[in-house]
Amino acid sequence: MSESVTVARVSVLPPEVRRRIAAGGVIERPASVVKELIENSLDAGARVVMVEAWSGGMSRIRVTDDGCGIVRADAALALERFSTSKLRSLDDLERIRSLGFRGEALSSIAAVARVEVLTRTAQEIEGTRVLAAEGELHVEPAATPVGTAVTVYDLFAHLPVRRRFLKSLTRESELIWETVARYALTWPQISFRLLVDGRERLNAPASSLRARIASVWGRDVAAEMVPVEWSALDLRVVGFVSRPTLARTRRDRQVFAVNGRPVQPGLMAVMLERPYAGRLPAGRRPLAVIHVEIAPALVDVNVHPRKAEVRFAQERSVYNAITSAVGIALRDEPQLTGEGSGFWPPATHLAESSAPYTTEGPRALAQLHNTYILAQTPDGLVIIDQHAAHEQVLFEKLAQGTERLQLSPSPRLELTQREAQSLERLAPLLREIGMEVEPFGGRSFLVRTLPVPLQGCDPAALLTDLLAAEPRWPDDERERRERIAAGLACKGAIKAGDPLTPAAMQQLIDDLMSSWSPATCPHGRPAMIAISMEELARRFGR
Ligand code: ADP
Ligand code: MG
Repeated sequence: MSESVTVARVSVLPPEVRRRIAAGGVIERPASVVKELIENSLDAGARVVMVEAWSGGMSRIRVTDDGCGIVRADAALALERFSTSKLRSLDDLERIRSLGFRGEALSSIAAVARVEVLTRTAQEIEGTRVLAAEGELHVEPAATPVGTAVTVYDLFAHLPVRRRFLKSLTRESELIWETVARYALTWPQISFRLLVDGRERLNAPASSLRARIASVWGRDVAAEMVPVEWSALDLRVVGFVSRPTLARTRRDRQVFAVNGRPVQPGLMAVMLERPYAGRLPAGRRPLAVIHVEIAPALVDVNVHPRKAEVRFAQERSVYNAITSAVGIALRDEPQLTGEGSGFWPPATHLAESSAPYTTEGPRALAQLHNTYILAQTPDGLVIIDQHAAHEQVLFEKLAQGTERLQLSPSPRLELTQREAQSLERLAPLLREIGMEVEPFGGRSFLVRTLPVPLQGCDPAALLTDLLAAEPRWPDDERERRERIAAGLACKGAIKAGDPLTPAAMQQLIDDLMSSWSPATCPHGRPAMIAISMEELARRFGR
């Protein structure tokens, strides 16, 4: 490709930019090599990207592209730390369009493997080969087409600990497939091919997104996806989501991308799934490819070492846009009749792979200072903040609507004038959530029902903060309902300092793990922190 492309020159980032970069161990496993090399190919303007892996990527990984190439004078520099052609100054950090910008990937890969780069720009007659092994760089001329091929040999050969923590070769190959699939679903206009041990595992010619979904997830899946299309002034949400006839028990077929960068879904998955409430049986997850396009100045891509997360300047508008977009896409899809009833056609089952969060082989080990719960997971330990966790569990239950409990006698609330006005405005939404209040003359109210998960809570205590905050709330009804659910969840949740029985701890963990968004509370604070065996081994120098 790209006679017209001027190849940007590589330089080493100045120290003030390096300090601002959220860098960290980017190469954890073969799939991380694949991710970084694909990103480089896309940044180079490639139209065709070919990925090859042998023995789960442990013996060899090669990514070949037809992008702009690297000029010979820069080829060695490209393998140095913090050398990049994509970012020069702090200002550039604010408007990053490229997938890479830290100048870290090639050097990090070369630190844990042997690397060969073959490359040529359209302006050069002769290409370049760079060999990097054990800290030594060797550059020589080479005959090679325009573009770049990076081959990585014997990953982690000198790091037996890292090697020991990898999964089976089959699982590592699957993770490579998932990585290629994620980029293929994000960039349908680019051709992708994946060969594993010489066998073709994915072949996706440049196409529309629907055709791309067919090449990656299969025709049957593509036929059951409906388009999503939503746009505002500076924000667009496009993609495909599954009709309620198609679902999985896990979220492993949900791809979210922000400005062409695949990201971990986090709260976006919760917002995606909201319009499915009442359309999918509990515990079923839709499939989705969601592309969010937003002005680069409104998104911070520099918050995660592996660039797998982003932060939005106006989070709520992005999240709400996802729910609206999916809601519109599903407008004509039927609602479930009767909960989990036989009326509903069974959701299509596809092969499932392992869950991202699981405490199977589950178990609450101890409560720490009556505040945190320690639990064992298959690959390490999680520390759960009991308040944040319970808050999230309650929030989700309340937001979905639950059974209500009659209170008799009905407790009576005596409010101030302002509080009474707020309560009148909130009453219809409170009723939807399961808390029915009734005027009882003057500024008195009776609380007739409570949502079952708030059984035993004092209604006055639940409402005080909500009523004080309500006058400042926006008019948007969905937003108000969410704030009520979050406020009631906060007041009703187990507090730090509450002692818990082992059974209560286990219950809380089980509830959290089956929630939509176990990692955070409704305010976005972490509900749990995971520490892998790998990290423990590293810290104990094993
Ligand atoms: P970053 O992508 O953050 O800039 P990398 O270490 O991944 O850092 O790459 C360093 C530089 O090497 C890039 O900025 C780019 O100039 C060059 N480079 C790497 N891979 C390719 C490629 N496939 N095609 C063209 N240039 C590349
Ligand atoms: Mg890169």
